[in-house]
Amino acid sequence: MQYKTVTAAKTKSIALVGHDNRKDELIRWCQQHRQKLAAHKLFATGTSGHLVAEKSSLKVEKLISGPLGGDQQIGALISEQKIDLLIFFWDPLAAQPHDPDVKALLRLAAVWNIPVACNQASADFIVNSPLFDRAYDKTIPDYQHYIKSRVTGK
Ligand code: PGA
Repeated sequence: MQYKTVTAAKTKSIALVGHDNRKDELIRWCQQHRQKLAAHKLFATGTSGHLVAEKSSLKVEKLISGPLGGDQQIGALISEQKIDLLIFFWDPLAAQPHDPDVKALLRLAAVWNIPVACNQASADFIVNSPLFDRAYDKTIPDYQHYIKSRVTGK
């Protein structure tokens, strides 16, 4: 795999997901960091998005609800390089009917070198990083090179 460098802009596109037992925690986290988050573009799975928007007054683009495809929607946005950061409060103590979607989302975040916070402490580290409000150069797979090598077999 060949890689190339891209720049994540100063204003980030941030995806927010809170599983059932972690929604309150996600809402509290968004309220706590409201000022910092307001400077960025927020996306969220359906229920999380409605609750965060209602309880924090942040502007959130709401996707489909997670179990109905919202996690996969975020994965698709990541592979189109439309998401820079994933705040994903998943519940490690509850089985989810959409576990395969969760695994797929985390896999795509790893493929595309997306910072992911799976719990509140990691999210605190990310939001307080100097890189949070700054342009950031990172490497991602070079898709043009990848597809060319697959098509030509070289
Ligand atoms: P929800 O989806 O915000 O629509 O509940 C989250 C999830 O369970 O993936």
